[in-house]
Amino acid sequence: MVGVTEMRCLPSIWGDWVHETELLKIEKPARYMGGEFGARCNPGAEVRFVLAFPDVYEVGMSHLGLQVLYDALNRHDWLGAERAYAPWPDREAQLRESGTPLSSLESGLPLREADILGFTLQYELSYTNILNMLELAGIPPLAASRGDDVPLIVGGGPCAYNPEPLADFFDVFLLGDGEEAIVEIAEVFRQWRQTRGAKEELLRRLADIDGVYVPSFFAVSYDEAGCVSALQPLRPEYARVRRRFVADLDTSPYPNAPVVPFMKTVHDRVSVEIARGCTRGCRFCQAGYVYRPVRERSPERVLQLVEESLRNTGYDEISLLSLSSGDYGCIAPLVSALMSRYADERVAVSLPSLRVGTLTRELVEEVRKVRKTGFTLAPEAGSERMRGAINKGITEEDLLATAFAVYSAGWRLIKLYFMIGLPGETMDDVAGIAELAARVKREGKRAGCGGEVNVAVSSFVPKPHTPFQWEAQIGYEEILTKQQFLRGELRKRKLNFKWHDAPLSILEGVFARGDRRLGRVLLKARELGCRFDGWGEQFDFSAWQEAFRATGIDPLFYLRRRDDDEILPWDHLDCGVSREYLLEERGRAQAGSFTADCRGGECTGCGVCDFDTIRMRVHSPEPAGAQGHPPHAEVPSGEQSEESVRIRLRFSKTGAMSLLSHLELIVLFTRAVSRTRIPIRFSRGFHPHPKFSFATALSVGVESLAEFFDMEIAAGFGADRVRDALNSVLPQGLKILDACEIPLRAASLSVIIDKVRYRVTIPGSDSKELERSVERFLALETFPWRWEKKGRVLELDLRRELYQLTVSGSALEMLVGRGKPLEFAVAVTGRAPADLSNAAIEKLDVLFNE
Ligand code: SF4
Repeated sequence: MVGVTEMRCLPSIWGDWVHETELLKIEKPARYMGGEFGARCNPGAEVRFVLAFPDVYEVGMSHLGLQVLYDALNRHDWLGAERAYAPWPDREAQLRESGTPLSSLESGLPLREADILGFTLQYELSYTNILNMLELAGIPPLAASRGDDVPLIVGGGPCAYNPEPLADFFDVFLLGDGEEAIVEIAEVFRQWRQTRGAKEELLRRLADIDGVYVPSFFAVSYDEAGCVSALQPLRPEYARVRRRFVADLDTSPYPNAPVVPFMKTVHDRVSVEIARGCTRGCRFCQAGYVYRPVRERSPERVLQLVEESLRNTGYDEISLLSLSSGDYGCIAPLVSALMSRYADERVAVSLPSLRVGTLTRELVEEVRKVRKTGFTLAPEAGSERMRGAINKGITEEDLLATAFAVYSAGWRLIKLYFMIGLPGETMDDVAGIAELAARVKREGKRAGCGGEVNVAVSSFVPKPHTPFQWEAQIGYEEILTKQQFLRGELRKRKLNFKWHDAPLSILEGVFARGDRRLGRVLLKARELGCRFDGWGEQFDFSAWQEAFRATGIDPLFYLRRRDDDEILPWDHLDCGVSREYLLEERGRAQAGSFTADCRGGECTGCGVCDFDTIRMRVHSPEPAGAQGHPPHAEVPSGEQSEESVRIRLRFSKTGAMSLLSHLELIVLFTRAVSRTRIPIRFSRGFHPHPKFSFATALSVGVESLAEFFDMEIAAGFGADRVRDALNSVLPQGLKILDACEIPLRAASLSVIIDKVRYRVTIPGSDSKELERSVERFLALETFPWRWEKKGRVLELDLRRELYQLTVSGSALEMLVGRGKPLEFAVAVTGRAPADLSNAAIEKLDVLFNE
């Protein structure tokens, strides 16, 4: 590992592994395993901090911010950061039934026993998950009713810019960049605990940290119309909270060895944030205002982070993240330096947020090398007039030229993102979406490919701290009417249409600009069973309607237009951009005037910069590769041989590792090989794959001492070195037992497997009874076993496939040909498969026929 000290510990399911049958009964057990590569914990730490993400593991693991904070905290010996994600309903039911409290992934620390519990506030529709996680942890939801015996509850992320609907549940919120402030919060907690002060004292000290908002230090009152009439600071010196800024990304902590999940996650790759902030000034975009000013990481630092992260993780894709990657000052030289450095290793570079207008032919060419199904462009609005109002700054000409370039580079599909319900929108603007999409399709035809277009349309939600924060949000009926209209227009033009469900947009809008009274609705909705509201199949609209009814709160009140002088629930929270500037921008939207990007040189006066520490930091486009950074480590000489050899490996898969699916195992080995830099060969063709071949796919939950796979590598590396190198990076539960070189043309493993030896332990069974069952079964001549597959009935004679059968304690040991060990156990014992659901199956050996 480069530059990190790994302090690993494992949750209880890894330590005393006793066949975790509970996890085998639910979907995707890898969500709950922990112990991933790069996971760290420090159970003896003075301050134990659990970072909680209120969504399922694969969503939370794709969130860069959480990895950044995890790394920032774990850099300190006295601090131990662990992770927790919202359990999916199947796991939640298990936890509730068994009375098991929600715990961290790293060490199984019950969340209630943490010192600090920090929630990522990424989107409004995850709020009920926060309440559910508190409930599952046994932590009272209301901050006012919590004592010192539960963790300090902290929230941060984009929704912290108006956290008022959550104000009753959190002790503090952090506004702005978190990687430095989060350590300061932990440090204040540590000092406060040494003095054994009252919680009020802790909150007072925390409020002194830049960016920390303590909601209980403000009282909110409302007028007769229900609008906020006063935001009363209860401490005179604490009347306004300004967001936290990281001045220079080059000197702030960044993970170079992020946690690598075992299972497939939404974004499964190395992510390097190349810049923070965007000053294009799109008037609907909250991120464009609350992350200002633009601060670019230097290309040298980006290259260094990419190099270290690839080596530490074994990923084969790098994603260069920012709000608008194409605006990064050195983007073209950076991408070409990365491509030339990593092309031989088949590492792909992706730029997920490319704006029309920043896409040069070279960039399109680079992006093309990544295995992608579609190219996404975001015109946001269908008409030139509407794009002018939102300050999108792209013309139809730009868009069509980009579409032509993208189709010409070989893409068949372009995904277009639009919004309906933007301020001032008419039906002509909505019709413009379909017309523009059709013109994009024509560019595809002109470029000589089919020109497929997917049109995704969301409903505009006005967000705090944007020029549109005062605007009305369109209601349910209007969303449906516009969606219906678009569906017809797009169908006429044979274009695919995807839309956001109207109730979800309404709910998002209510909480985005909500106030403290909505806490009651959240509590009621949770009581009615709401959680995972952003997941269509889990969303229960009628429960939400009931929650609003029961609390006497009208959701439509929150969608209305606000007067310019109305006190907004977040007016005491300062993102740096002034209210005057936002009002000015709103006026310019109405006039259709363009506001230029200040990156071009002229400050437009948004108010964020102090032009000393807080200022724009951009890098000039010098060739990134020519800046003295050492190239990646060379493969030692003798290992770049043209000749290939085949290595056969035997490995064990035990303990928690048996919860991994075959596909997850292949991905894990691929990354392990990449981390060790074993010179593996790749298949030819458009999507080259490392040359692995596994003997068989082991069922999830089965432990094995006899798994086999072959790999083809460059001659000269040696089988023993392969074994040792892999063992140095494999997680507990996977171990290479043997490795030997075999002829390149040797028969494949699946052909030469003859028999397999299994042990099936049936907890609570009586050995005498098992012996009688064995005797009875061995006396049979035949035992036909039938099952159905794709409508066909298949049959196997289990008796003839059985070569040895003995009893050892409460276990059956068998040597079999075809057939599954559990089927043999059912056949031998005469018990129903459900009765054997807690049986532990171990694969002990494989006999080959050559
Ligand atoms: S203060 Fe001026 S230079 Fe700084 S982000 Fe705002 S507009 Fe740009």
